[in-house]
Amino acid sequence: MESNIIRHNQNKLIVNEPTKIVQKIEELVLNWHITQPCNFKCKYCYAKWAKTDQKRELWRDNTATENLLKCLYNYFNGATPNALQKSLSWSSQRLSLAGGEPTILRNSLQRIVFQAKQIGFNVSLITNGSSPDVITECANGLDIIGLSVDSVSTTINSQIGRMDKSGKCLTIDDVLSLIDRIRRKNLNIKIKINTVVNSVNSSEDLSELIKRARPDRWKIMRMLPVTTTDLSVTDDEFKSFLKRHKAFESIITIEDNNDMEQSYIMVDPYGRFFQNSQNDRGYVYSQPILNVGPRAAFKDIKFCPEKFTARYKTHK
Ligand code: SF4
Repeated sequence: MESNIIRHNQNKLIVNEPTKIVQKIEELVLNWHITQPCNFKCKYCYAKWAKTDQKRELWRDNTATENLLKCLYNYFNGATPNALQKSLSWSSQRLSLAGGEPTILRNSLQRIVFQAKQIGFNVSLITNGSSPDVITECANGLDIIGLSVDSVSTTINSQIGRMDKSGKCLTIDDVLSLIDRIRRKNLNIKIKINTVVNSVNSSEDLSELIKRARPDRWKIMRMLPVTTTDLSVTDDEFKSFLKRHKAFESIITIEDNNDMEQSYIMVDPYGRFFQNSQNDRGYVYSQPILNVGPRAAFKDIKFCPEKFTARYKTHK
């Protein structure tokens, strides 16, 4: 916000109203956490949403899914006034599908990816990489794929819980072969690797993975104690992880805990906006978007456009 300007006019003191600067960004990102279940069991997992009267996750209803996507797109498209346009302007919208593990939806995920694309969104998918066939089938409809890789060590993945019931976790070869398949299917797709630094992987060196995978972006996040403090890291542990990987700084974006608060627009599997609670663990929720409309629902949660812009700009 600009500082107030004081002018003198015919001996009167006039204090201008502070003027909000409208920050220009290319893309507004909406994160839809489409489902809660996951085949992995990471101890720090954030995918734990309070139940609603609505028994089933929204993606199971094709019409409701389409309505949700259309009403979000239209609201943030500026067709009608929205809560952000006084501080932000953007030229496109991206729907980021996350979970839980979205590939659990199998064919329905593919349907939703192409539905969102048709409505006008750019689309990205965040996945743990455990279902290469589902991911590859969606690749043509995706602009970005985010692969969550905290470690390439079976021991460390097992300590985090980043493996399925049979003990299968992603090896470095699994990650590289998956990336190769995705790139062969969609030459223009951007590959992002997401790593959550926690107390178990904070000493690991992921340089070989990054050198060989050649992602467009490597997002390094500090484990956020939303649902548990188990596996949280100290400042020093986080810094030393970053220092060890300094060679990749041109593609790295860093998110410390403070950067993540109120800087994401997030929708839960039941179609409510949500944000991290500031007083407690867990989340605060809006009313269901399809019941009250996006404008009323968005008013129910806190969102900080400045933090969003700062986070977005470091991602360019
Ligand atoms: S892979 Fe993601 S959704 Fe699944 S348990 Fe781990 S953090 Fe949670």
